[in-house]
Amino acid sequence: MENRFCKKCLMNEVMGQAEYKHMQDYISNIDSFIKTEEKDYKERLGICMDCDNLINGMCKLCGCYVEMRAAVKKNYCPNIERKWDKIS
Ligand code: SF4
Repeated sequence: MENRFCKKCLMNEVMGQAEYKHMQDYISNIDSFIKTEEKDYKERLGICMDCDNLINGMCKLCGCYVEMRAAVKKNYCPNIERKWDKIS
């Protein structure tokens, strides 16, 4: 895969298929007790996709892959505004 710089992309657009599947497997195996509900997960990722801090699927404030960070309920957006807190 060629190296690309992709602002506001999630990992399916920048990772190879095998790595992406590995990440998805990891996310699906997160214990439901600590996992973000699907609706909130999608909303978190939607907020990230509109955020200037998202580059190549990674948040430049914390260095996390947002798809993985957002999948754990207790995690929060590292921006000073804590953007995910807007989700009700
Ligand atoms: S600052 Fe928050 S909303 Fe923006 S990419 Fe990072 S985690 Fe997502």
